[in-house]
Amino acid sequence: MKYLVSACLAGERCRYDGNSNTINALQELVENGDAVSVCPEILGGLTIPRPRCELRINENGSTKIISENGTDFTEEFITGATLSLEIAKKNKITIAILKSKSPSCGCGMIYDGTFCGNLTTGNGITADLFIKSGITVFTEKEFDDSDKNNS
Ligand code: SF4
Repeated sequence: MKYLVSACLAGERCRYDGNSNTINALQELVENGDAVSVCPEILGGLTIPRPRCELRINENGSTKIISENGTDFTEEFITGATLSLEIAKKNKITIAILKSKSPSCGCGMIYDGTFCGNLTTGNGITADLFIKSGITVFTEKEFDDSDKNNS
């Protein structure tokens, strides 16, 4: 197994709104056995559909995951990240391709917690844990670029 992929990129309808973000090349990686797919939010016990959540950075630097209606889902997101890392370790994964902007999977830029579509610098909870654990994280956009560069 070479890669770990966000499940919504591999065709699973596991987004908060019940849709997917399918990228055919990533779906093929999973189907061919070259990648394992995970959805941290489902692993954390959340449902489909579920409230839209964003990561909020507090004044003291701590982070919380808050839904649009103000519910705190930080614990579920941390559980999902921890279980995703366990799957990555079990499969000896060193490279993950995760969904951009997500409060779980986003890497580099994520939604800023205002639910206005604005982005800010930062990583989702799972992407951050992966990076701190030595896994190289790409978003699907970077994967697309490297795919094109290699073709
Ligand atoms: Fe699940 Fe991550 Fe996709 Fe969100 S971005 S639906 S947490 S795999």
